[in-house]
Amino acid sequence: MNEFVRVSDIASLLFCQRYCYFNLHFPLESQVSEFQAMKEIYFSWRNYGEDWKSKAESRFLAIYGKENLDLFKKAIKNFKFSSELNNLKSIETEVEVRSDKLKLIGVLDEVVESFNEKLPLILGFKAPDNEIWYKDRIKLSAFCIMLKIDKGYIYYCRSGILKDYRVRIKDKRVVLKAIDRVRKLKNNFLPEKEKSNKCKNCKYNEICNSKTETFASKFL
Ligand code: SF4
Repeated sequence: MNEFVRVSDIASLLFCQRYCYFNLHFPLESQVSEFQAMKEIYFSWRNYGEDWKSKAESRFLAIYGKENLDLFKKAIKNFKFSSELNNLKSIETEVEVRSDKLKLIGVLDEVVESFNEKLPLILGFKAPDNEIWYKDRIKLSAFCIMLKIDKGYIYYCRSGILKDYRVRIKDKRVVLKAIDRVRKLKNNFLPEKEKSNKCKNCKYNEICNSKTETFASKFL
């Protein structure tokens, strides 16, 4: 198994450690979501100017298939554009970022320029009432650590809200701890199952119910 931890592994770890384990060892396709369609809309809007709508549709259908056209239409209807994004020059979208030292890798949604500074921007779905979601804080922090930068942006596509965030020391600690934890899961440590509301709609529910934790994971 590749020794690099992906930023997306950290995101799934924050959702549920066992979910992360199954995603690493027995990956299943997820259902296509409105958020994935919104990402295509965002990338096309930032890259193709006036032509963005048709580009977004053809990109989305090429990746997810014609059977998801209605989902794309729904996303087009719900996507909210913010004029604040015009203050951020798009340098590049979908950029692979990696740190050989930390053995961490991820695909950053966008690199933007603001006041001659190049900064990371990640996309989110709906904005919370205050600040930003914890999972987004940690995801952005992971990219900031790799880029040796202390701040970045999150754009919530369904809310049309742009937020900036300055990474804190405690966020960096969480990222580094999560990298170690994912590495342990890669090495076959299956954590104990915790009862949670998340289990109801989890795609790994069946396999999760059939597997008990590894003995060593009790001591992690
Ligand atoms: S069923 Fe529950 S405990 Fe198991 S992987 Fe899913 S969310 Fe985690």
